[in-house]
Amino acid sequence: MVPQEPVALQTANREPLTARGTAFIETFGCQMNVLDSELAGATLSEVGFNVKAANASGRGMGEADVIMVNTCSVREHAEQKAYSFLGRAYRLKKQNPELVIAVLGCMAQKEGALIFKRAPYVDIVAGTQHFTKIDEYVARVKSKRERILAIGRDDEVVSAKRYRIRDGRHSLQVAVMRGCDHHCTFCVVPNTRGMEQSKPFDDVVKECEILVGGGAREITLLGQNIDSYGKRLTPRRTLAELLHAVAKVPGLDRLRFITSHPADLKPELFNAFKEIPNLMPYLHFPAQSGSDRILRAMRRGYTFDDYMRLVDKAREACPEIGLAGDTIVGFPTETDTDFERTLELHRRAEYQNAFVFTYSHREFTPAEKMELKDDVPEHVKNERVNELLRVQREVSERVLARHVGKTMPVLFDRKDPATDPVLRVSESTEAGFAAKHEARITKHGLSGRSPQNLPVHVNAGRDLTGEIAEVRITRATGLALYGELC
Ligand code: SF4
Repeated sequence: MVPQEPVALQTANREPLTARGTAFIETFGCQMNVLDSELAGATLSEVGFNVKAANASGRGMGEADVIMVNTCSVREHAEQKAYSFLGRAYRLKKQNPELVIAVLGCMAQKEGALIFKRAPYVDIVAGTQHFTKIDEYVARVKSKRERILAIGRDDEVVSAKRYRIRDGRHSLQVAVMRGCDHHCTFCVVPNTRGMEQSKPFDDVVKECEILVGGGAREITLLGQNIDSYGKRLTPRRTLAELLHAVAKVPGLDRLRFITSHPADLKPELFNAFKEIPNLMPYLHFPAQSGSDRILRAMRRGYTFDDYMRLVDKAREACPEIGLAGDTIVGFPTETDTDFERTLELHRRAEYQNAFVFTYSHREFTPAEKMELKDDVPEHVKNERVNELLRVQREVSERVLARHVGKTMPVLFDRKDPATDPVLRVSESTEAGFAAKHEARITKHGLSGRSPQNLPVHVNAGRDLTGEIAEVRITRATGLALYGELC
């Protein structure tokens, strides 16, 4: 097919669409990408597509009419994986020239038309604010053989009135804001997702009412920097207000929120853990480093002591709270002394789990503008990652062991994550890694989530999907809890 100049789309008027066929989605990256893939998938299934999860090998995608990859740019590695996946999709397109290939997400936003140069067989490049229109873009490619480039700003992404019921799911995520106003030196998100935009307060509550009406028992409110929710709304609103309002949705058993920024965490949020009975005791707030010198260089806006004060406040407000973190090792100029402070932070914060990454120099980040040299040698980065993972595993084993002997309510969301039709996400995402672990463990049983958002495995002997049941914890590892039904 002769590549034509892509039609740059800003906002397009909606045409009624009907379509038939099979669409596959592969997802790389964060929880926001997992949700965007679900919403893009729901958008296509609404117009008649049979939507399935891609598998990294490309097996079973031979019958595809549409293949989409939702990409991540947070590390070079994630982009390489997206391009190798596109290579596999291209082999299928050679057998079926009608196949539509779409690139969504942060790499699409960052690279734009460059993707057409590197992969001329791609039909659609749709940025982080355009996945809600994927059905229309597919129809245009199919009917007019146009190539679509859609990376402009599109406010519909935060004010979409098309709520997507995701059948059979009891635990769902709702994006309440997108983008980020922080400019952490290592991060590409402000460039790929833009400034913070909050979804209108009443829209969020209405969306949660519809999802709970559709069978959801647990809702997780999602935002790259969720503590800033409502900052630009008129009148200004806060995350704590939103939590109080959503918690009152009839039939909602469990409410969660991710991801918090230590510099924006407000005291009233800790009160919310005391005041809202169905707000789950779980807080994911990445420290990224334990060294004050590195935290300044990262432009994180807090110190080791500030962070530990927040940890203490969280435990004071909610003693049974489960904390989770993200940490980068090998940030430019990081010394052994800096790294020792990071180990100290993990020992003292006592995260139940933490995601650990090596620093990856990225374009379109403040670090690039500051010409920060990626000067920590790869072998030192790898040694530090292994050492931090070893320390964190000890901490996780200690923290999870405290649950043994306790009885707790567990929401059984799904039989075996690896077989979930749309949700299977690649292992390069946190969810994908956890899913692989769970799938391996629950051959005969069920997996669910504790109030602290820990995976709990039981041999139930009956299908409890969608139910909340009391479980007595009998065993714990550094990754999960095991128990029996009461
Ligand atoms: S808070 Fe920092 S790390 Fe998080 S999305 Fe914003 S810029 Fe990136």
